[in-house]
Amino acid sequence: MKDDLLILLVAQEIDLEIDKRFKSKNEYPRQIEALQNEIETLQNTLTQKNDRLNEIEKARRVIESELLAERDLLSQKEKRLLETKNNKEYTAVHNEIELARKRIDSLETEDLVLMTEQDALNPEVKELEENLEKTRANNTSGIKDIQKHFDSIESDIAALNQKRNRELSHIKSTRALSIYNRLRKGKSGLAVAQVDKHKHTCKGCFKQLPSQKVLEVRRAQNIIMCENCGRILVWDSRDED
Ligand SMILES: [Zn+2]
Repeated sequence: MKDDLLILLVAQEIDLEIDKRFKSKNEYPRQIEALQNEIETLQNTLTQKNDRLNEIEKARRVIESELLAERDLLSQKEKRLLETKNNKEYTAVHNEIELARKRIDSLETEDLVLMTEQDALNPEVKELEENLEKTRANNTSGIKDIQKHFDSIESDIAALNQKRNRELSHIKSTRALSIYNRLRKGKSGLAVAQVDKHKHTCKGCFKQLPSQKVLEVRRAQNIIMCENCGRILVWDSRDED
């Protein structure tokens, strides 16, 4: 029985490797998606900020041409003020001048607000562009790596399956094999639990084992199960003798 139990222990180790590969096979698409999302999010933020910069430029051009027109009008009115012939006319032109100055003032303020926003956005856009370029390079090569691993997983799993089946073909006790296969389906895939050689605990559930039980497991004449978690207990004697 001792040999059979050690075969089960090896098969269990290979099966855990297979499980790990299946797990990462499920995780890879998500990892790739996360890397792609990171690029996309940066790209979207950059587009938004560039759009806003274009809007500001357009608005400032409109304000500038309005300012030109207003200033032109103002200087005409200032000239007219010198040519007024009576008080009434003077007051009228003077009021028009005040109004024009106010309009110029408010246009200049509007332009200043836009310019301040533009000055803040320009370095942000530059930083985002650099960040995007770096992230795109890193993530694209990351995605390629993941893809490569992903492509080799199927052949890895096939090779491991072969190795496991080869091991199991040497088993003599069909009962041990059927218990193993049954437990593999439950117990989160862990059918065989080693006994911790120092603490004398079950490595499947970490429960302390009675010394009599540890002795029986070491003797390996029968299939001994952990009373707590129901797994097959094995003493790993591969590095002994
Ligand atoms: Zn246990």
